[in-house]
Amino acid sequence: MATRDPVADLQRIAFLLETANEATYRVRAFRSAAATLTKLSAEEIASRAAAGTLTKLAGVGTVTARCVEESLAGEEPVYLRRLLATEGSDVDGATAALRKALRGDCHTHSEWSDGSAPIEEMAMAALGLGHEYLVLTDHSPRLTVANGLTASRLREQLDVVAALNETFAAADTTFRILTGIEVDILADGSLDQKDDLLAQLDVVVGSIHSNLADEPDVMTRRMLAAVRNPHLDILGHCTGRKLATTGGDKGHRGRGRPESRFDALAVFAACAEHDKAVEINSRPDRLDPPKRLLRLAVEAGCRFAIDTDAHAPGQLDWQLVGCTRAVASGVDPVRVVNTMRADDLLAWTARHA
Ligand SMILES: [Zn+2]
Ligand SMILES: [Zn+2]
Repeated sequence: MATRDPVADLQRIAFLLETANEATYRVRAFRSAAATLTKLSAEEIASRAAAGTLTKLAGVGTVTARCVEESLAGEEPVYLRRLLATEGSDVDGATAALRKALRGDCHTHSEWSDGSAPIEEMAMAALGLGHEYLVLTDHSPRLTVANGLTASRLREQLDVVAALNETFAAADTTFRILTGIEVDILADGSLDQKDDLLAQLDVVVGSIHSNLADEPDVMTRRMLAAVRNPHLDILGHCTGRKLATTGGDKGHRGRGRPESRFDALAVFAACAEHDKAVEINSRPDRLDPPKRLLRLAVEAGCRFAIDTDAHAPGQLDWQLVGCTRAVASGVDPVRVVNTMRADDLLAWTARHA
């Protein structure tokens, strides 16, 4: 009987668990088992499975061992089958078409800041989802809780991305990683990274992570300054709200946080005037902006970026959520920047500088 690839099955399970926003420790069980088995030959895995000694390996537990045994026997692991049976949801035609039109993701994190995976793994997952590009936007220095990148670490990251892009080009794929940052919008509206570096990056997402409860006029001034800054391309999760969630990784679990108060009409008008995009953040714990503000942004004539803000490979699959909200709020797919080809996206961001 034909056997399956047990490592691929374990990785697929991890991916689906991330998509479902399951707790990090559950995902890690499958990722570490896969990592352990990658180092062994197929023969050794088979003989250990036959002898029942898979669980003697570091990182392999009873659940993951059972998946491996089922894979080797040529069966789809029960664990995987259940996940596949419950994934996804019925979507209407317009939402499906918008999702299909998306060519990339403009807001993602790697283990360089507070993400859980290496850059390459995020890129491979994006490629697997059919993306043509992935914008890597790790955090900026002041966000120390998220291990924000100093200027020198960011320069180092740019070299790593350039090297990875060379391997993609050599492999004859058109996929590439675009450089970027999720830069903190500081209390005075300035951006938390050196100007020369911001100028060098392909895409700059600016977000507020501090003083979220400031008075509306203070908040509005701060956001307007950021939107007018020529380096900023996309305004990230504009209200900063957090929804109460039970699943998810540490820091994304909790009772929620109210929206910041600001003059949304003024901020969206500035986005439209300076041709900046308002992000539609697809994270289940954010869903930002709320639909009433999304409708306002549509009326203001803004562009949008439908992003996942993924901190793990499986979370890159969250864009459908953003597409649903975009369609419900009347967003025209033509106004969504990540429906553009990479070169057109880069031409758009270059016009801001
Ligand atoms: Zn953020
Ligand atoms: Zn983020």
